[in-house]
Amino acid sequence: MKYERMQADRNSRSTPPPTQVGGAPTFSVVAPVYNEEALVEEFCRRTALVLESLGEPFEIVLINDGSRDRSPLIMRSLHDRDARIKVINFSRNFGHQLAITAGADYASGQAVVVIDSDLQDPPEVIPDLVAKWREGYQVVYAVREQREGETWFKTFTAAFFYRLIARITNVNLPVDAGDFRLMDRKVVKALNSIREQHRFMRGLSVWVGFQSTGVPYKRHARTAGSTNYPLRKMLKFALDGITSFSYLPLQLATYLGFLAALLCLLFILVVFILRLGAASAQAAAFYGQAATLASVLFIGAVQMISLGIIGEYVGRIYDEVKGRPLYIVAEALGFEHKGEERES
Ligand code: UDP
Ligand code: MG
Repeated sequence: MKYERMQADRNSRSTPPPTQVGGAPTFSVVAPVYNEEALVEEFCRRTALVLESLGEPFEIVLINDGSRDRSPLIMRSLHDRDARIKVINFSRNFGHQLAITAGADYASGQAVVVIDSDLQDPPEVIPDLVAKWREGYQVVYAVREQREGETWFKTFTAAFFYRLIARITNVNLPVDAGDFRLMDRKVVKALNSIREQHRFMRGLSVWVGFQSTGVPYKRHARTAGSTNYPLRKMLKFALDGITSFSYLPLQLATYLGFLAALLCLLFILVVFILRLGAASAQAAAFYGQAATLASVLFIGAVQMISLGIIGEYVGRIYDEVKGRPLYIVAEALGFEHKGEERES
């Protein structure tokens, strides 16, 4: 009972903002922007061109994720010139996944396309996604057939990560699909009702179900700016993905425990035999000491690893329990509701 009340309380606290009423566009394009001063204008130009060719009303929702360069100014002037370009300014950097979350909360289109604003995902692919949506698919993800201009390290780790997560999680993540995808309003609504903190959006959009399909595309190299995903962030992102959808790391602790127990048994056996065969009492003591030291260190390591794994989960549970808002909007430009009302 108490738990239910807590859940209800929590839901009311973090209900996604109501969708725009009247004149809702057919398409919303959601693009997170973090220090993309060199690209955001070109991104909007190309995206608007593509959307205009589809001949239906659209909006472009740019989320400024606490950029420290000139991109907020550029975005504001883009909005001033074209009301279809809407801007959400975060109060600080909240990260790519939360920027996408805010975009999905605020977007009101019948189909919502999530795309990077650095033009690595070409907006020209959007009509292909839309075509599949028209066929009746509710999630259409763009699958990277080719990656240009990425380091071999990124390509390798990405390929490894996608395959690892496909193996160990219980959601069927499409391999090599990033966050570039089209989602039907129904899917977005379901997605918006999930308010967990460590959001692995591409996993959640599979978790909610619905009919999905993929469209291949070529991921381009960055033409300006630099990646905002250093190794540290990539690692956190990977851990979020794994812990959101898998208990395997926790089970790993159990397996490690069994392995340690087995090795200990073998150890005892070996030491016993060595002692029996030892030439002198001194040699026997030496074998005994070495074995004790090795097994103490081994057990210590296994325990530390297990603690670390549990820690990853406990930290995430702690974040969920605190129930903080997912992001803070400083200003929302172009939406019918005031920013404060629409805050998550
Ligand atoms: N981004 C963001 N917040 C961040 C980091 C990145 O909104 O903290 C945006 C960035 O502007 C870009 C997209 O997320 O549109 C993908 O980021 P990036 O290109 O750095 O990642 P990569 O393509 O190298 O994986
Ligand atoms: Mg990029």
